[in-house]
Amino acid sequence: MPDDDLIDAEVVEEDSKRCPVCESYDVGRAKSFAAYLVLMVAAYGAALAVDQTAAAFFAIAVLCVVYYVTPPYRCHECGARFD
Ligand SMILES: [Zn+2]
Repeated sequence: MPDDDLIDAEVVEEDSKRCPVCESYDVGRAKSFAAYLVLMVAAYGAALAVDQTAAAFFAIAVLCVVYYVTPPYRCHECGARFD
């Protein structure tokens, strides 16, 4: 089955991440979808509490954009963020 080759290629790609600034291999994922989900629920709950549902949807939209544009990797050596 050719599917096995695809999975192997992705694993290699994940392991070879490297900081573009200081070239360190000590990098990690900087964002988690779960954390943003908690923020969105908190924003929605807070806005509901003060009867501002329009503000809640705006806050969630902003969080979605921030999540989308934030580079997923962060260097532990120099703190640089990158894709
Ligand atoms: Zn770095």
